[in-house]
Amino acid sequence: VCEALFRCGIHPARQACTLTGEEAAALAEAIPQILEQAIASGGSSLRDYVQADGTKGGFQDLHLVYGREGAPCPNCGAEHPVQRITQSGRSTFFCPTCQK
Ligand SMILES: [Zn+2]
Repeated sequence: VCEALFRCGIHPARQACTLTGEEAAALAEAIPQILEQAIASGGSSLRDYVQADGTKGGFQDLHLVYGREGAPCPNCGAEHPVQRITQSGRSTFFCPTCQK
């Protein structure tokens, strides 16, 4: 979710009904691409997830914002913009400069 919203420049606190048609279309395109990349790289080993053969996934290494609080933004180049907020008990990471 974080990766799709970041790629589309959409703030995670936006309500779905406020998305423009263009933003919704961009998300609809980004989500399956990100899922395909995640599956192709073996999933995300964040805590205890491993693949069926016991090896770790590699998608966590490709995350642009997820789990990267305080990291540089690969889009705007700011040094420590990535923030973490909690939504319904789950952590969400985003760049407040790039995601409106
Ligand atoms: Zn940014």
